Amino acid sequence: MKAEIIAVGTELLLGQVVNTNATFLSEELADLGIEVYYHTVVGDNPQRLEQLLVEAEGRSDLIVLCGGLGPTDDDLTKDTVAAHIQHSLVQDEQALARLKEFFKFSKRKMTENNLRQTLMIDGGIAVQNPTGLAVGTLITDNEKTYLLLPGPPNELQPMFQQNARPLLEELFPQSEQLISRVLRFYGIGESQLVTELKELIDTQTNPTIAPYAKPNEVTLRLTAKIADERMGQKLLDNLESVVMDKVGEYFYGYGDENSLVKVTVDALKKYGKTVTAAESLTAGLFQSTLGDISGVSEVFKGGFVTYSAETKAHFLGIDPAMLEKEGTVSEACAIAMAEQARQLANADFAVSFTGVAGPNELEEQPAGTVWIGLAEKGQPTIAVLQHFNRDRSYIRQSAVMKGLDLILR
Ligand code: ATP
Ligand code: MG
Repeated sequence: MKAEIIAVGTELLLGQVVNTNATFLSEELADLGIEVYYHTVVGDNPQRLEQLLVEAEGRSDLIVLCGGLGPTDDDLTKDTVAAHIQHSLVQDEQALARLKEFFKFSKRKMTENNLRQTLMIDGGIAVQNPTGLAVGTLITDNEKTYLLLPGPPNELQPMFQQNARPLLEELFPQSEQLISRVLRFYGIGESQLVTELKELIDTQTNPTIAPYAKPNEVTLRLTAKIADERMGQKLLDNLESVVMDKVGEYFYGYGDENSLVKVTVDALKKYGKTVTAAESLTAGLFQSTLGDISGVSEVFKGGFVTYSAETKAHFLGIDPAMLEKEGTVSEACAIAMAEQARQLANADFAVSFTGVAGPNELEEQPAGTVWIGLAEKGQPTIAVLQHFNRDRSYIRQSAVMKGLDLILR
C-alpha cells in the first residue's frame, strides 16, 4: 500500500505558502498505517498536473491531491483528474443544498462559478466539507484511488478527519499500525547523541529510531510497525531502555508537546513551587518563555529586567561598588541578582542571567559568555558559566534553556 500527496498551487511553488497540508496528511495517513512515499508540488497548470498523475499512478496506490477545488478559473484539480480518468463531473446535491443555504444566510448573491465548487467526479464518493463550500471526491479507477481535497488547511483538516478518514479506513483496513514515542533530550547536541546511538540507529529496523534536532534540544522518535498495539508498546519499552542506558542522563521528557519550559512549569506545579527571574542579556526572554505556557500564573510570580548596572542597583538593590569591582558579567553579579530577585518576589526559585549577547564583547569578555544564577529557598545560591557560540538570538535562547534546566535538575 503506497500513497503519495500532490499539493496543487502556484502559490506553493512561489514560496508564498508553506505546504502544511502535506505534513498534516502524512501524519494522518501514517496513523492509518498507509505509507507515504512521495510529496510533490505542482502549479495550477493542467498539463503538468496530468503528467504528474501519470507518474504517480506508476508508483502509488493512493494519490491524495489538495488544492484547486475552488470556484475560480485557476482551480483545475477536479477537471484535470476527471478528464484524466475519463469521468465527468456531476453536481453533488448535498453540497449544492449547503451552498444555497450559505448564500441565503449571508444574503450574498451566488455566482455561476460558485456552482463549480459543488461538482464531484462521477462514480466517486462525495467528501463533504464541514467548514467550506467545495466538495471533495474519493474515487477508485483502474485500481488507483484518488482523494481530492481543498487547499485551505481550515477546510482540509476537518474534512479529512471527519469524512475522508472513515472512508479510507474502510477501503484500506489496517493490518499493521505505526506506534511511536518521542523522547526529549537537553544538554547534548544532535551529533553527539547520534554518535552515542550510532550502532543502534544503523541496526534497528523495527522499531526504528529517528533523531530530530531543534536549537538546544534533540528529540528521538521511536516507531514500531506492528499489528498488536500492546506488543508495539513493549517493543518501544525495550528500545527505550537501551537508549536510556546510553544517553539517559540528558533525557527530560516525552512527547511532541512537552518542551523544556512546559516540563519545568509542570514540575513547579507538581511540587507547589514558585519562580521569579532577574534578566540582563535575555531582557525578559526567560519570563516571556514562561508566559507561553498556559496556567503558568500558578507558579510564576513576575520578575525583573535589569539591563544596566544602574537598574541592577536600583531595582534589585545590588551594591554598585560590588558591580564596579567584579563586573556585571560575573559570578558575583549572577548570584546577587538571583538572591535579590528571590527575596524581593518572595519566590521559591529565582534564575538570573548576565552575560554577553554579542556580537561585540563586553567587559573584555567574548560574545556568548553567560553567567546563569539559581537561588533556591533554603539552599546555597549557585551560578554556572556557559559559553554559547553562535549568533545573538541563539545565545539568548540558549541561556533561557539553561536557566530552565537549572530549575529542573
Ligand atoms: P479556495 O476555494 O479557497 O480557492 P482551493 O481548494 O481552490 O480553495 P487553493 O486555491 O489551491 O484551494 O488554495 C487556497 C489557499 O489555501 C491558498 O491560498 C493557501 O493559503 C492555502 N493552501 C493551499 N494549498 C496549501 C497547502 N498545500 N498547504 C497549506 N496551505 C495551502
Ligand atoms: Mg482556489
